[in-house]
Amino acid sequence: MKNNINILNISKSRINLLNLNRQDLRCFLLSLGAKNFSAEQIMNWIYNYYCQDFNKMLNISLKIRNKLNDISYIFAPKFIEERISCDGTIKWLTSIDDQKIETVYIPENKRSTLCISSQIGCSLKCSFCATGKKGFSRNLTVSEIISQIWQANQVLKQKNLNRCITNIVFMGMGEPLLNINNVISALKIILDKHGFGLSKRHVTLSTSGIVPALNKLRHSMIDVCLAISLHAPNDYIRNLIMPVNKKYNIASILDSSLQYLKFSYANRGKITIEYVMLDRINDSNQNAEQLAILLNKMPSKINLIPWNSFFNSSFRSSNMNRINIFANILRKKGFITVIRKNRGRDINAACGQLTGNIINRI
Ligand code: SAH
Ligand code: SF4
Repeated sequence: MKNNINILNISKSRINLLNLNRQDLRCFLLSLGAKNFSAEQIMNWIYNYYCQDFNKMLNISLKIRNKLNDISYIFAPKFIEERISCDGTIKWLTSIDDQKIETVYIPENKRSTLCISSQIGCSLKCSFCATGKKGFSRNLTVSEIISQIWQANQVLKQKNLNRCITNIVFMGMGEPLLNINNVISALKIILDKHGFGLSKRHVTLSTSGIVPALNKLRHSMIDVCLAISLHAPNDYIRNLIMPVNKKYNIASILDSSLQYLKFSYANRGKITIEYVMLDRINDSNQNAEQLAILLNKMPSKINLIPWNSFFNSSFRSSNMNRINIFANILRKKGFITVIRKNRGRDINAACGQLTGNIINRI
């Protein structure tokens, strides 16, 4: 794909409407003297028709359109590079501030899942994760999060694939709960029937467990599917591979997840527990038994993830035989246990392989 970044001379003081959820857009429009329902009309133009030109929004009065042209714009950075896997997975790169973030499209029967990034890099330095190894630059804005879905739908249309994004997973670059305000606003747009209108059961937020932010998500009444990156059956192992565990330990994460579960309809009574299978680190029979005891009071389904390799890492994935034995111990204890199919490995698009191009600022 040729580099076709839209080089618009956009003044920094003008506001990109992709940064505003419905509530914010309504306040903004009311301040311009627009009608109460203009927010819904404009969102319809943006998220249904992918329209960036206020002059085409003929159900909005000329006076308001002129004001919008003066002080706002609609802009989503285009994908500058595309890599296609032999399994149909596509990885797209977006250039932001001379850096690159990655977005992954995973087609599956009727489902079209988009794995989106929430930060440029990640500050949490989990030792098994390529993103964590690359460092952290900054949080993505709401529009930079939303643009990934906006552009994906446009590109799929251009490719005549007759599909649009049906599922979103926050499993790309970054820790979404460390960018909680922008992620909440983006989630509102994703779930809003005047935005992308996705079902809460089709939106998953994966987190390493930032407890205060998880509580904030619950208090904001944002109901989506939750996936907890647990990856260890005890604090000792988790401390070794996920430094963030020293701040928020397993007990506090499970407690906060349980409270989230109590209010959530999206999760259908079960949180997803993600567990990356690392050879000789967390994959013994004893580890499986311990995990089962740990999750005894936590209604959950367990996702075992074969570890995806990246350059210069000393980890190895558990082999399939070991993963199957581990899974069967959990199944015998009554846990729904799935071994995750890793898609897009040949283009480094699988879980934990996204590195983009980051200027580390920490
Ligand atoms: N920061 C969030 C979301 C992004 S990572 C989180 O950690 O949950 C998405 C998932 O990929 C997480 O479960 C993460 O632990 C897992 N992951 C990271 N590196 C991996 C690797 N090399 N192989 C397999 N899974 C990995
Ligand atoms: Fe960050 Fe998640 Fe990678 Fe850990 S696994 S470094 S939290 S992106």
